[in-house]
Amino acid sequence: MRSFAALALALALAGCSGTVGDLTPVPDADAPLDDASLPAAPDARSDASSDAPSDAPAVMDAPDAMPALDRPAAVDRPTLEPCAQREDGTWCAGLLGLPSGGLLRCEGGAAGAIEPCADGCLDLPGATDACATDAVEPCFNDPDGSYCGGSIGASTRRDDLYVCVGRRTARIDACASGCDDRAGGTDACRAADPCARATFGNGAYCGAGIGGDAAVLYNCQGGRTASQARCERGCEAQPPGVPDRCAAAPTTGRCCLLRPPGSFVRGFSACGRGGSHYGVDSGAGLGTALVAGISGTVVGVATGHPNCPYNVSAGTCPSSCVNQFNYVKIRSDCGDPSDGGRDLYVYYLHVDRLAAGIGNGVHVNQGDLIAYVGNSGCSSGPHVHLEIVPVARGASAFLNTCTSVDPASRYCP
Ligand SMILES: [Zn+2]
Repeated sequence: MRSFAALALALALAGCSGTVGDLTPVPDADAPLDDASLPAAPDARSDASSDAPSDAPAVMDAPDAMPALDRPAAVDRPTLEPCAQREDGTWCAGLLGLPSGGLLRCEGGAAGAIEPCADGCLDLPGATDACATDAVEPCFNDPDGSYCGGSIGASTRRDDLYVCVGRRTARIDACASGCDDRAGGTDACRAADPCARATFGNGAYCGAGIGGDAAVLYNCQGGRTASQARCERGCEAQPPGVPDRCAAAPTTGRCCLLRPPGSFVRGFSACGRGGSHYGVDSGAGLGTALVAGISGTVVGVATGHPNCPYNVSAGTCPSSCVNQFNYVKIRSDCGDPSDGGRDLYVYYLHVDRLAAGIGNGVHVNQGDLIAYVGNSGCSSGPHVHLEIVPVARGASAFLNTCTSVDPASRYCP
């Protein structure tokens, strides 16, 4: 039964779902219109002018809006028959201009008896109007407030939020992520996981960019928050593809790199130095404490990889083991010690496991425990592979490229 009130409610509901829909990017919003899809303007104009008689009065469709007069007016009804031109059905009498909160049955254009409604009549969009009861009005028994549909016995939209005013549904808010049942008419739509909007894949995102807490760095994995860290000094958004990060803490420690633990095994030999080793290897016992060589933010970690059998004579591992190591990646607070205008990334590969509390977005000071020396990935024994990558500020860093430099060139004196 469409009435003005029902239409208003329907429009309000359409507005709610439209808000949710706005979150979806429109891929071709900037695409130019296809000229071929437009009507040929001159023809359209000439058709329109030829259809319109020049001497026609301005308004000719008034008769439709006038009362039907082809039926004798009932002598005992001084007002217009309320069911005239109504389809058969049951209507709230008040909506047909009658001073009643009851239900009126219309049949064949004639009105039947009015059924009184003790608690008022409900004009129900898309359904037959009915007397108000808790069976047809979820808000019927509830004080003013907000309620999850399921908590007030709604038969539809149980995970959406009903706003009840005067024991009637004033509005229904669509809850994209479900509804939180709270006390005393204070139910609310559940906050969406900000990582659902992490459109650049897995990684670190500032909350401000994905509708979350602006001071929190979210580690998004598979569209969900895997972990999160509050940034004491705010979160810094980075270009697409570059992990966002917490603003750097005032540097604790020096802008130089501590040497890795253990003893030197193998040096940097890549990029014109006759070999293909992009870092330095330092051998140490399994489980030896590994500390951050420079203050910075953890921007990448991996765990759970076992040792991969290393074929000493061939000098290789099975291809399935490539890059299957545990590691910690740190972005230096003070950039590259040789050029503070650049970012510096520091990798520790083959670790056994991470130290407690270490994960994406965590800030560490020079000397803080970050992991334990291990033998994960393609490795012939417990050691740490230290690799450093200076890049232009904001650029991404990758292992095994000639962006890498010899870590020894950045060691603290
Ligand atoms: Zn190595």
